[in-house]
Amino acid sequence: MVASKGVLRLKPGRERSLALRHPWIFSGAIASVEGNPEPGATVDVIAADGAFAARAAWSPASQIRGRVWSFDLDAVIDEAFFTHSIGHAARARAAMLDDEHTGCRIVHAESDGLPGIVADRYGDTVVVQLLSVGAEAWRNAIAMAVQQATGARCVFERSDADVRSLEGLATRTGPILGALPQAVGIVEGGLRYDVDVEHGQKTGFYLDQRDNRAILRQHAAGRRVLNAFCYSGGFTLAALAGGAKSVLSIDSSAEALAMARGNLALNPGLDAGRAEWREADVFGELRNLRNRGDQYDLIVLDPPKFAPTAAHAQRAARAYKDINLLALKLLAPGGLLATYSCSGGIDAALFQKIVAGAAVDARADAAIIMRMGASADHPVALNFPEGEYLKGLLVLKR
Ligand code: SAH
Repeated sequence: MVASKGVLRLKPGRERSLALRHPWIFSGAIASVEGNPEPGATVDVIAADGAFAARAAWSPASQIRGRVWSFDLDAVIDEAFFTHSIGHAARARAAMLDDEHTGCRIVHAESDGLPGIVADRYGDTVVVQLLSVGAEAWRNAIAMAVQQATGARCVFERSDADVRSLEGLATRTGPILGALPQAVGIVEGGLRYDVDVEHGQKTGFYLDQRDNRAILRQHAAGRRVLNAFCYSGGFTLAALAGGAKSVLSIDSSAEALAMARGNLALNPGLDAGRAEWREADVFGELRNLRNRGDQYDLIVLDPPKFAPTAAHAQRAARAYKDINLLALKLLAPGGLLATYSCSGGIDAALFQKIVAGAAVDARADAAIIMRMGASADHPVALNFPEGEYLKGLLVLKR
């Protein structure tokens, strides 16, 4: 697939967002489709006055009917395009990989100019997610480009995210190139973690919290830590490495807790005697702990996405407020709350308001001492503010 035969003609004025380099073309912007393009085919996007606006992947099933590969009239979307773009994205992460850090996102979709394509590197294995029909159409070229850019021994596909259905695509997982090694693991901040790339959440590990785990580690010394929504123990191990007095880790998933225990065991330098694990619903368990009068000096709240879009914001806001309120009550004076939201539907300002409301209701005198976001390998392109999803606040209770 090389030639771009199809044409999307825009309604008058609807080329404006493309002039600002926003990479999405919504159904309502399109006046007509010419050339009967196949799903995933490359089409030319033409303004009402006939001027070229972009070259994009055609996605007839989605409300986002087009995702831009290039704004350049001369761009050819072919295998070489993906070799070039993926190589460029991977090279931009070179400084983020070393002996102490062997896991890194190397392609972050729209924010790397590659809509619908995610690639996470875990040592010699790279896990890709193809999330749009345009990405799907270039599956082999993408896998080859990833291998070329990284030298990976296995390129494994985890195209099982819900958003695939919006593009009319079924889920698919399995190796694309090479065979999946018996065990996949990474080193992060000198700590070892196994990564379950076949069955783990997302592509297996929450790489986006890497910088925040390092921040938490710096604040953990001597503290009684509560890590709520611990998944495979990322923050737990970071806290122990930082000298935490104790760490209670909670998750509702038995599989996650088993991985977390396993990860702790991979690091004999950490004192497993300081770690306690609890399979429980965080909402109920925080209430139990409060009713018992327990206190902590550092609490991490890293829940799953309560609000995938703004339509879920109100219900999600109540859930965020609930856990933050309980956490602020459980904190001893001088304690720290590291609280996160990965909901695209809740922006940083709203999240801060929710936490502020929780502090009022908890009667806590508290102050933000640091704002956090996703790690540097998860950039937010300035032309794609939707790419900003993870925000965090480090809050000191006085
Ligand atoms: N902090 C983790 C990532 C957290 S992902 C890291 O750094 O790796 C969110 C986790 O919350 C998942 O492991 C999921 O199993 C868990 N979870 C979701 N809802 C929950 C609930 N109500 N109670 C407890 N755990 C929950």
